[in-house]
Amino acid sequence: MTDANELAQIREAVRALCKEFPGEYWRALDRERAYPEKFVAALTKAGFLAALIPEEFGGSGLSMSAAAAIMEEIQASGCNGAACHAQMYTMGTVLRHGSPAQKAKYLPAIARGELRLQAFGVTEPTSGTDTLSLRTTAVREGDFYVINGQKIWTSRAEHSDLMLLLARTTPREQVKSRTAGLSVFLVDMREVKGKGLTIRPIRTMMNHATAEVFFENMRVPAENLIGEEGAGFRYILSGMNAERILIAAECIGDAKWFIEKATAYAGERVVFGRPIGQNQGVQFPIAKSYIAMRAAALMVREAAALYEAGEDCGAEANMAKHLAAEASWAAADMCVQTHGGFGFAEEFDIERKFRETRLYTVAPISTNLVLSYIAEHALGLPRSY
Ligand SMILES: Cc1cc2nc3c(=O)[nH]c(=O)nc-3n(C[C@H](O)[C@H](O)[C@H](O)COP(=O)(O)OP(=O)(O)OC[C@H]3O[C@@H](n4cnc5c(N)ncnc54)[C@H](O)[C@@H]3O)c2cc1C
Repeated sequence: MTDANELAQIREAVRALCKEFPGEYWRALDRERAYPEKFVAALTKAGFLAALIPEEFGGSGLSMSAAAAIMEEIQASGCNGAACHAQMYTMGTVLRHGSPAQKAKYLPAIARGELRLQAFGVTEPTSGTDTLSLRTTAVREGDFYVINGQKIWTSRAEHSDLMLLLARTTPREQVKSRTAGLSVFLVDMREVKGKGLTIRPIRTMMNHATAEVFFENMRVPAENLIGEEGAGFRYILSGMNAERILIAAECIGDAKWFIEKATAYAGERVVFGRPIGQNQGVQFPIAKSYIAMRAAALMVREAAALYEAGEDCGAEANMAKHLAAEASWAAADMCVQTHGGFGFAEEFDIERKFRETRLYTVAPISTNLVLSYIAEHALGLPRSY
């Protein structure tokens, strides 16, 4: 647990750092679809991206609540943590399931900012959400695994040194349990780029540095297998609660940003001789957004508290992500409406944040999949897929 005083200090420090990266910085990058190198370097230098790496490995050893506060403040300041948020949670797979040698080799270097672990290769074009149907294979040959296949939406692959990769090591028809036969590898992309690994950027509606990656006889040292061969799906699942909580916190930050912008504008824009915010038709949607954001924030807090206590937080992490993503998207829409035509003007940053926050009801998990998780695991209804 991080106490309230410490959390307040962390929030203030993140806000101070983010002040150095105002709207103009993000707008220029957005136009070029360029990666926010300076912003990510500043966050790394300040130690924020190593929040969840324990102190024994050179990290800050902070709690999930503190990590969530960092991500929330980044978004609430108008910045975009999507450029680097994965480093906070992907390293958890190495921390929880890596060997002592792997942890000693990678975690301190990640904490120091010398190695970037920003890429997470799970989704494939054919299998989509049905992860167990993925087709990328890894076949052991002596001291190496030879990897063939393809991933899609492997965000930040171009801006990362390492990629956490999920691939099939035992054919599906040969495994006893549905979830067996997949393995996790920590791929050092610097060694295989152009030698079996090809990265092709995908241009999206927002500036997200995402990519397709292709593996053609890509050789990865066997020592880069994380944990046991065949147990990878479980390892990836175990990191998903952290991912959901942190993304939910980002959505809370986005919602706060939209609400603050809308409130300020509604107070100062005068039409028909009075501030537009004096009209209930304008103030009620802002109030509704505020209520939705506060309610979602409570669920994020509950999920983080359970996570920190080492308890099962699958339902809460999913509900937090769902409520927060819905709240941020509704707040984005409300903010455009409140601003009228100016909501569409680039210099207001609203249309940029609107595009950016749209992602979170789809990725890292789409709304329907959250709902089916809750139906099955919280309500005991039959599995639908
Ligand atoms: C910008 C961006 C960045 C991303 N970054 C990463 C990354 O770094 N690493 C990574 O591995 N992945 C990443 N993803 C992938 C992301 O996690 C998936 O896009 C998301 O999980 C949805 O999967 P899909 O696109 O394959 O949709 P599909 O699985 O094809 O689903 C399409 C739609 O059908 C619905 N659907 C599917 N099956 C069912 C069902 N049984 N019942 C009801 N509805 C259903 C889904 O909810 C969805 O709305 C990213 C995606 C985007 C767009």
